[in-house]
Amino acid sequence: MTPSLSQELFDRARRVIPSGVNSPVRAFGSVGGTPPFLASAKGALLTDADGREYVDLVGSWGPMVLGHAHEPVVAAVQDAATRGLSFGAPQAGEVTLAEEVARRIGPIQQLRLVNSGTEATMSALRVARAATGRDVVVKFAGCYHGHVDALLAEAGSGVATFAMPGSAGVTEGTARDTVVLPYGDRAALTELFAQRGDEIAAVITEAAPANMGVVPPPEVDGVGFNRFLADTAHAAGALLISDEVLTGFRASAQGHYGIDGEGWAPDLMTFGKVIGGGLPVGAFGGREDLMGLLAPAGPVYQAGTLSGNPLATAAGLATLAGLDDAAYRTLDTASSTLQQLVADALTAAGVPHVIQRAGTLFSVFFREEPVRTYAEAKAQDTAAFTRFFHALLEAGVYLPPSAFEAWFVSTAHTPEIIDRIAAALPAAAKAAAA
Ligand code: PLP
Repeated sequence: MTPSLSQELFDRARRVIPSGVNSPVRAFGSVGGTPPFLASAKGALLTDADGREYVDLVGSWGPMVLGHAHEPVVAAVQDAATRGLSFGAPQAGEVTLAEEVARRIGPIQQLRLVNSGTEATMSALRVARAATGRDVVVKFAGCYHGHVDALLAEAGSGVATFAMPGSAGVTEGTARDTVVLPYGDRAALTELFAQRGDEIAAVITEAAPANMGVVPPPEVDGVGFNRFLADTAHAAGALLISDEVLTGFRASAQGHYGIDGEGWAPDLMTFGKVIGGGLPVGAFGGREDLMGLLAPAGPVYQAGTLSGNPLATAAGLATLAGLDDAAYRTLDTASSTLQQLVADALTAAGVPHVIQRAGTLFSVFFREEPVRTYAEAKAQDTAAFTRFFHALLEAGVYLPPSAFEAWFVSTAHTPEIIDRIAAALPAAAKAAAA
């Protein structure tokens, strides 16, 4: 049999790139098989090197909220490219993008652009430690904040996919400064703060965890979990960092998730994905007094050769410009319709499942009971997911290759596209049941 071009590329890739990929989940390690090497994408559709077409439910892991090669975004990037690819000097697009994010998100008084979500959380952490003069950071099991040394312990996303406790190469000292708690656990947090409150620089959380599958923040003491975190941290002089790299501008029309009213705010927030429209962008921002600690005015060093890149800011601005109320209504409809179709197909095939959502984000867990923690997310039938995944891939539907990831729709997921997924679901559900 002639090997496919994807197979040939994967073989070549594995000789020069570790595991053949530049980010672990892409290797299909947990689901097996050869990842399609992609050649092009348009709207909600992907085409691989062999010319096979797929309906995309990965959306480059979040950024492609308007669909692939969305014309206004491509035009903005092309236009910017004719005026220079990188200046390493201030340019208007960075000001406009920062203004746009600050206009939409109340707690953002100042914002600095970086090149990835990882850089954003790493830098926010540095600011928090400088501001408080403390070392310890609290994170939640199953939350992923990028591959920052201090934040890899019990992380979600690829670390969850490959069942890793953390990462080799992280020093003991770094690990010692990170305390990991179960998500949503009021008692554990209260006890930790009672014992070590004066050592804690910050609590960092995903605004709605979506890297162990989607886990909507619970109510605690009559308030949302995020607000409870802010109150608990602030009472001890610590900060709350709300990581909106994944949720930002995707989960809700407000651009943020979980700031449920007046009178409180996270101290620092991180963004990425959507605000770069598919180009490498991250951002961290928050209160002016905290952001004022950054060099050159302040003592916290942080920098980037390509930060504020003109193509990236053009793509981000064009993407945000496309995210009006109508776009969020489309996203919401696509997301809700798909959830119902998946639930119907899995129910008809007798496959235990639970679908959880946070705004327009959702994921499917292959177990009966709701998932509130990482331990519960891990207690699902990943083998059933793998069968479901491969049946859908075979039928031309490209799901995240992991049971621990959100499914990403875009405004290009029209009813016709959703129909194509609907047609593939019954057989995939039967495969999952097998
Ligand atoms: N924070 C969250 C919540 C994420 O979901 C991710 C990536 O998936 C990151 C941070 C890291 O972003 P990046 O992959 O751009 O470094």
